[in-house]
Amino acid sequence: MEKIGIFGGTFNPPHVGHLNIARTFAAEYGLDRVLIIPTYVPPHKASPGLAPAAARVEMCRRTFTDPVFEVSTIEIDRKGKSYTYDTLRQLKGMYRCAKFYFLCGDDMLMSLHRWFRPEGILKYCTVVASVRSDKLDLSDLEAYAKEFFPAKYRCGRIKFMPIKPLELSSTEIRTKIKNGESVEGLVTKDTFDFITSEGLYL
Ligand code: ATP
Repeated sequence: MEKIGIFGGTFNPPHVGHLNIARTFAAEYGLDRVLIIPTYVPPHKASPGLAPAAARVEMCRRTFTDPVFEVSTIEIDRKGKSYTYDTLRQLKGMYRCAKFYFLCGDDMLMSLHRWFRPEGILKYCTVVASVRSDKLDLSDLEAYAKEFFPAKYRCGRIKFMPIKPLELSSTEIRTKIKNGESVEGLVTKDTFDFITSEGLYL
């Protein structure tokens, strides 16, 4: 059975922290492919300085270049609010025999109870959560899962992936660019070239 990973985000812009966690995810779970899904309109947070969808897709293509990655425009093509539940239902229809793993950082996991149909999400896929800084560890994530989704936690629908986090956010990158600081090394070389040539986030 094909094992498909899903990694969604605003990716405004995608950075090496994203790449680090996605690579670990693919290797740890032996995934056949990882779909990288840029969000059309983020339902969980306000997005100041959001680059156009086409630019975020292009930056994802320039960041996630390993053969296991595939950039999907499923949410951008659907338009409107990008609910993970809708995306998973659509993917289930497209890949009938696949097993799905959904990757998220600590901030995303710990708001799962406020997402649209979280129990439905956990029916469609296994959520794989990881920390994105040293401020939290996996036991904090486990405590959250036990409290909010005890039954799904017990049957292993929420998993915890150890990584050495690269503490970095897209916000930090946008701020640096606005302040005239270099972001070389925080995004891939090809993404850096695109940001520079398009004059993004100035
Ligand atoms: P912003 O600063 O604009 O809020 P972000 O850096 O949080 O952006 P998103 O595109 O919102 O990036 O994140 C997509 C997914 O990647 C989320 O699940 C998030 O938790 C995870 N993520 C973001 N940065 C890291 C990181 N440095 N390490 C691990 N996971 C990360």
